[in-house]
Amino acid sequence: MDRLINFAAGPSMMPESVLRKIQDSILNYEGQGYSILEMMHRKPPFEAILLELKSRVKSLLNVPDDYEILFCPGGGKMQFGMVPLNLVTPGCRGGYIVTGTWSRMASEEARRVSREVTLWAGNGRDLPDEVVEVPDDADYVYFCDNETVDGTEFQGLPAVSCADPVFVSDMSSNFMSRPFDVSRFGAIWAGVQKNFGTAGLACVIVRRNLLGNAADTVPQMLNWNVYAKSNSLQNTPPVLQFYTAMLMARWVEEQGGVAEMDRRAKERSALLYSAIDDMQDFYVGALPPEVRSRMNVVFTIADKNLIKPFVEEAAAQGMINLAGHRSVGGLRASLYNVMPIEAVQKLTVFMKDFAGRHGKFH
Ligand code: PMP
Repeated sequence: MDRLINFAAGPSMMPESVLRKIQDSILNYEGQGYSILEMMHRKPPFEAILLELKSRVKSLLNVPDDYEILFCPGGGKMQFGMVPLNLVTPGCRGGYIVTGTWSRMASEEARRVSREVTLWAGNGRDLPDEVVEVPDDADYVYFCDNETVDGTEFQGLPAVSCADPVFVSDMSSNFMSRPFDVSRFGAIWAGVQKNFGTAGLACVIVRRNLLGNAADTVPQMLNWNVYAKSNSLQNTPPVLQFYTAMLMARWVEEQGGVAEMDRRAKERSALLYSAIDDMQDFYVGALPPEVRSRMNVVFTIADKNLIKPFVEEAAAQGMINLAGHRSVGGLRASLYNVMPIEAVQKLTVFMKDFAGRHGKFH
């Protein structure tokens, strides 16, 4: 099959083997004579999918036994509200480190549904490099591990003033792309449509002793504890999304697990950043090396008039969705788990050729 190279920030590329498996399952699930779309969610075939999905997430990320793995419909933004509704206790506040678009939105939502305190706010091109002060009444320290729009990625946990912080992290755009120590977090969550499936579902990994704090007025469907108690089956779940995430978990494992995903991510992003750095009179705006995301490479062209032709010519060569987020403009190449290194090589060859044709780097 002739497939385009899709540099979109999400939904993003999926492995052809997974797409084919879904295609087969839509018509006839495992030869059972019915479609995955018709599958009952309280019968053994779906229970098997859910069990495999959960156990693969647990083993891929080495999730300790005192954590619950939940799957919540509603995608990423739903968690912006669910985090404070489930974790802010009476009289206290959710603490937010604001490094870009998605952490800002999360902090605004927390203010809307609960009480919020901004612990640190940057300019969208930086991350805290000093110790972040955390007041006593902050129930947690929230940060977005990878800012999809701005192109920054934390290289480790932020340094904070308190001894035993409850870190909560949005890992939507770097989930399953590297190993990390789950036990250092109170909760991590990810909308799954970048590295781990299709839109409309979030995976939440939360330490069990943090559950049960939601007020009685919180709707059942927004209460993590309800998901924990019902094995994420509190209502009719989006079966296809669960199945797709399970197939993606299988794929990550077959490919060598999250350490291998990290190796590939570093290789891909290093190749692209070095191309940008080598042509830095033409391609500009790349972030400082110490905050650069391995997933979303944000840059632009010095001559703004060339951005549109760049995006169009790349698309004509089969490389689509290279325009930056509508709020920031410029260019962005998202390099998630499924993106082959050859695709990034092709992009860098095109970039050199494009810069050459426009008067530079012959
Ligand atoms: N957080 C991050 C880091 C994201 O990149 C996105 C989506 N691009 C979201 C949250 C929101 O996810 P959704 O569109 O599924 O609500």
